[in-house]
Amino acid sequence: MYVLLRKLSQLRREIGLRAAAPGSLAIRHVDAGSCNGCEHELGATANPYYDMSRFGLSIAASPRHADVLLVTGPVTTRMRTALMRAYESMPEPRLVAALGNCAMGCSLLGLTTEQAGGVRDVLPVDLEIPGCPPTPETIAIALTSLIESRRR
Ligand code: SF4
Repeated sequence: MYVLLRKLSQLRREIGLRAAAPGSLAIRHVDAGSCNGCEHELGATANPYYDMSRFGLSIAASPRHADVLLVTGPVTTRMRTALMRAYESMPEPRLVAALGNCAMGCSLLGLTTEQAGGVRDVLPVDLEIPGCPPTPETIAIALTSLIESRRR
C-alpha cells in the first residue's frame, strides 16, 4: 500500500497536478432529483486519481458537520422539504453549491409539475458548477475556489 501511494505521489508530480492549498471544506451532498450522472462525476473527484481530499475537500456524513451543501439535480417537489431541512440544520456560515445544469434550473429532467425549480428557486446559491455532467476537474476547481473565496 505504501509503495502504491508513493507511486501515486510521483505520478501526480510528473503530470503537474497542483499542490494542495491550505484550508478545507466539509461537503454535504444532497441529490434533489438528478439522473445520477452528476453523482457519478462527483464520486470520481474522490477517487485516487483526482483525490479531492488533497485540496481540503471532504464529504460530511451529516449537514450538521458541513460547510457546503452541494446539491445535484432539479429540486423535485418531494425533495424540497428535505433539502430545506438539510440547509437549516447546517451551522453558520453555510454555503450552497448547485452542481450541474439541472441544479442550475435548466429543466432538462422530469415533468415541470413535479419540480420546485432549480436550487436557486429554493435556497440562496453561492456557487454554480455548470455541465451535464460537469467533469471531476471542473467540480474540484469550482469547490477549491470556494476555499479561496472564504480565505479572502
Ligand atoms: S445535469 Fe445532466 S448529468 Fe446532471 S442530473 Fe442533470 S441530466 Fe443528469
